[in-house]
Order: sequence, then structure tokens, then C-alpha cells
Amino acid sequence: MENKTLIFGHKNPDTDSICSSIVYQMLNEKKGKETKAVRLGNINKETQYVLNYLNIEAPELIEKVEEGQEVILIDHNEFNQSSEGIDKAKILEVIDHHKIANFETSEPLYYTAKPYGCTSTILYEEFKKLNQPINKQEATLMASAIISDTLLLKSPTTTQYDEKALEELGKIAEIDVNTYGLEMLKAGTDLDDFTAEELINLDAKDLNKNSDKFVIAQVNTVSIEDVLKREEELKQAINKQISSKGLSLFVLAITDILNSNSEIIALGEKANIIKSAFGKELENDKAFLEGVVSRKKQLLPNINENI
Ligand code: MG
Ligand code: MG
Ligand code: MG
Repeated sequence: MENKTLIFGHKNPDTDSICSSIVYQMLNEKKGKETKAVRLGNINKETQYVLNYLNIEAPELIEKVEEGQEVILIDHNEFNQSSEGIDKAKILEVIDHHKIANFETSEPLYYTAKPYGCTSTILYEEFKKLNQPINKQEATLMASAIISDTLLLKSPTTTQYDEKALEELGKIAEIDVNTYGLEMLKAGTDLDDFTAEELINLDAKDLNKNSDKFVIAQVNTVSIEDVLKREEELKQAINKQISSKGLSLFVLAITDILNSNSEIIALGEKANIIKSAFGKELENDKAFLEGVVSRKKQLLPNINENI
């Protein structure tokens, strides 16, 4: 078992999960607490852009946590999005901006939940609360996470707190937020090296309601058309996962980060709920959802209500 308390974000980690974990380790260090940021999966290309920009290493990859391991959960709380063994770990703390579900502990804990656009915005406020100065590296990490989660403040998940945090963090980081942000987001849209199977798992969340298990996956792009060149291959990979995981629905959102729209591919026995969820009939298992970019605020609530 690892002596230090481990800090990690969700499986299929995104920029918020990685950057917020690193920043929280740094903040703990300032408070005199030794912790260790780790990760539960591969670094995506968007996050790699940030790590390269700062010339810092990715946190260590872990496969599972041992019984009794002290952990801090970042950017998630649901056990099915967390590490293997999480139900037997000792969760000291959660810092998150998602709905709370599939979560239970046997002991009291610190739990910080705010309905902001990004975990790093919560961390930014922690620095303020503790009167801790934010250095350039920390600012760049937090700004990157906010840009990623809010798609440069364009997602409907964006709050005034994210706007305020990003404005100040951008100054400390000495970046032009729009230029840097677009470069970073674009780095994440380079999907050529991935197999269809990898692509549908890049940013996938396992969800459930009653007896229905479903997945909502998302990929960012600057050209939906480009991604759809691989439509048949993607559908095959999705269908394979539907049977192996026993899913009633798999939704892949292909999100155009420049125009803030998504094309979805929906497969599974419950695919017909897309009509009631979004008022759009599926055509060839696809639907174009105008103005839809957020899984948390748009895709998930509508699907959850109708499944
Ligand atoms: Mg996340
Ligand atoms: Mg997040
Ligand atoms: Mg995300």
C-alpha cells in the first residue's frame, strides 16, 4: 500500500482530472501535507499538450487501490467511474463538480461539491480561502482545466465563478486565454492515431439508472464530417461494447468545438429514447443536436430522464 494519500480523478482522465490532481498535490504540500497525484488511465492529447507546455511529467498510472488506502477523489465521486478497489479504500476527501451518485463511505470525510464548470475553479477558491499565492505553473494547470471543461467558457456548464477564475489565472499564467485555449483544445481533436475502439473510450462515462446500464462518450473535433468518415467502424466498436457490457444504450457525441454543436451516434435497444430526449428522430442511428456540447448539463439529464 502507498504510504502517501493518493489523489486521483476519474477513469479515462480528462484535463481537469489530471491538472486538478496535480494542483491539489501542490496545495497540500503548501499546507504541509504529503500527498501523491496519480491517474487511472492514459493521458489524452489535449492534456499532453498542457504537460508539454509546462514540461512536467504525467502522474503515475495506477491499476487499483489496496484495501484501506487513503485517497482523495477529484472531479468524480461515482464508484463506477473510480479506481478498482475504491469501495474498500479510505476516502478522506472529495472535491467535485458533478451530481452525487453511487457513492458511500463508512467514515466521515471532507466533501467539497460546487456546481461549477470545473474542479479547478473550486481549487482556485481554495487557494484564495487559504490565502495561498498561485504560481505560474499552478495557474496554467488550473486555467487549462477550466478551458477544457467549459470549452473556453462556451459550454452551458460555465458559471460566473469559472469566468472570474480563468480571467485571473490567465494573467498569472501569462497566456492569452483564447489563443492558448484554442491550441490546447485543437491538440485534443487529433484522432487519427486511434482505433475506433480507442476513440469511443477516450472520454466515456459508464452510467446507470435502475437496471439500465448506458454509456455516454464524447470526442471533440473541428470537423464532425471528418470523424464521420469512420462511421461504420465506430458503430461496430460501439455494438461490440454494447454486447460485452450489456448496455441498453451507447451514445457517442461528436462535438464541434468551434461551432458548439454535436452529432450523436446512438445505438442499443433504448436508442429510440433520443426522440423524446432531444425531439430529434435518429436517422441512420445519428442525430444533429444544435447547441449541445455538455454531457453533464445537456446529454446526461435528458437521456437520464427518458431512459
Ligand atoms: Mg472530468
Ligand atoms: Mg471536471
Ligand atoms: Mg469532460
